[in-house]
Amino acid sequence: MSEATESNRQCKTILPAILVHGGAWAVPDSLRDAVNCGIQRAVRKGYEVLLEKDSALDAIEEAVRALEDDPCFNAGTKGHDTVGAVAVDSLGNVASATSTGGITGKEAGRVGDCPLVGCGRYCDNNIGAVSSTGHGESISKVVLAKTIIMYMQQGLSSQEAAEKALSVMTQRVQGSGGVIVVSNTGDIGIAFTTERMSWASMQNDQLCYGLDPGENNIATISNI
Ligand code: ASP
Repeated sequence: MSEATESNRQCKTILPAILVHGGAWAVPDSLRDAVNCGIQRAVRKGYEVLLEKDSALDAIEEAVRALEDDPCFNAGTKGHDTVGAVAVDSLGNVASATSTGGITGKEAGRVGDCPLVGCGRYCDNNIGAVSSTGHGESISKVVLAKTIIMYMQQGLSSQEAAEKALSVMTQRVQGSGGVIVVSNTGDIGIAFTTERMSWASMQNDQLCYGLDPGENNIATISNI
């Protein structure tokens, strides 16, 4: 067991958290309601498992399965849509997942960022977990997920690390994308440089979600 994980276990102050995304792209207005509804449903399902089993891995599997089965996101069956999840459980174990059909019009044999460790996703129990979405070639060139973990290792918060890495991706390779991040202590980050990214988070029984830049809604009972 690593030192960080050991100290997490001793402190027992970690608030389990889960975040999900439904891909970073120009989601049309016509899909807004359905996407907002689906993303909340998925994060709730994941959160239930997170509390019930206290397992970050089981929780992200549940959330990604819910998104894959949702016709609005549909990463399981069709085209280009991408979904992902990250979580931390009360023991400080982190997990991340990204599921994609790639991008529209991709060449046969294209390898995107998702199967590349450190690009479409990364997690390290000593630091945190990241799931990325967006232009795969750009994400791969800057090794986006691992770069975020590196910034966190250097002391940045999850949010600061997410924003910094995406801005590096813009500057270095003119690529856009989005990320969800959680540290092994439950600090969360959400950032994107695309027009929109559907995301939701749940921690301490509070559900937040958004789609447009800067949008952060707290779900009310009527949304549940
Ligand atoms: N990153 C994925 C890819 O390039 C696409 C996406 O996130 O929508 O394969």
